[in-house]
Amino acid sequence: MKAWGLFLSLILFCAGCATPPEQPAPPSRYGGPPLPSPENLDRADVEVIRGTFSAGRQPDGNTVVLASADGLIVFDTGRHAAHTQKIIDLAEARGQPVVAIINSHWHLDHVSGNILLRQRWPGAVVYANDDALTDALGSFLARGLEANRKTVADPATPAGLAEDLRGDIATVEQGDKLHPDVSIAANRTIDVGDYKLSLRVAKGVSAGDIWLDEDATRLVASGDLVTLPAPFLDTACPKEWRAALDRILATPLKRLIPGHGREMTRVEVVLYRDAFNALLDCANGDAPAAACADAWAAAAAPLLDAQSGTQADAEAYARYYVESVLRAGKTRADCPA
Ligand SMILES: [Zn+2]
Repeated sequence: MKAWGLFLSLILFCAGCATPPEQPAPPSRYGGPPLPSPENLDRADVEVIRGTFSAGRQPDGNTVVLASADGLIVFDTGRHAAHTQKIIDLAEARGQPVVAIINSHWHLDHVSGNILLRQRWPGAVVYANDDALTDALGSFLARGLEANRKTVADPATPAGLAEDLRGDIATVEQGDKLHPDVSIAANRTIDVGDYKLSLRVAKGVSAGDIWLDEDATRLVASGDLVTLPAPFLDTACPKEWRAALDRILATPLKRLIPGHGREMTRVEVVLYRDAFNALLDCANGDAPAAACADAWAAAAAPLLDAQSGTQADAEAYARYYVESVLRAGKTRADCPA
């Protein structure tokens, strides 16, 4: 049966080669051309631009692009200009403008590209939590600016890192260009083109997280609430984060695009949530930090791929966060007890 299925597929495929179908694959509701690869036809309306994660460099978050009838909806805009350029190239290839930008949170690997995209499409409407961004620009990012200037001035700083930090300095110096047009501080549904998007708020990764729930395709874009090779807990409320993962799993999601890492199925998100909870529980207990980190890395291993980091990266990050954040009491000041 399997062999026949394969045989028929080959025939159909080759027939397609010999006589290209007159009607290219749908869906027409999204305006732009469909993706060329048959296995991608069911997701022709969604593009993911993977963020980079490489040793010694600053990461980019993933970008999710939804093609609406009115233009592109961009969820997170990256840090490096090269990442944002991929969004611009995609829009130009489809002949569609960027009409809406949603920032999952204010970390620079998710918002820096707002500046370039707004320059190219001044009419794009930006949705984000403005209070959290304003607070970060006056505190965490202001302190980072000073620290980054010192690091850049140090001749021992590797050239690649110095380049990234100069980029971050330039972004924070233009911080006024990062603010949203519409501040999202409570759950809200927005209509863009033919899309109805549920923007859900949380305070897990930052004081102003937004995750996106797209009902028609059962897609969730989670921002850094789901992140590999390990949860980045620098500005986190672990309890709120834990609750947000449960809320994500309470939706009928079929596919989830994380803030960093590859696309996941529901079963994989459950695996992630359980590993995350186990990491927090371990950090709250008496086990050595290395044991908590090893357990995290082993549990997360099936979710990793070449672009999201190795199991050794997962272990190293988890150990850092257990020792230097969770057990050092360095979670956010506004976290509930
Ligand atoms: Zn991130």
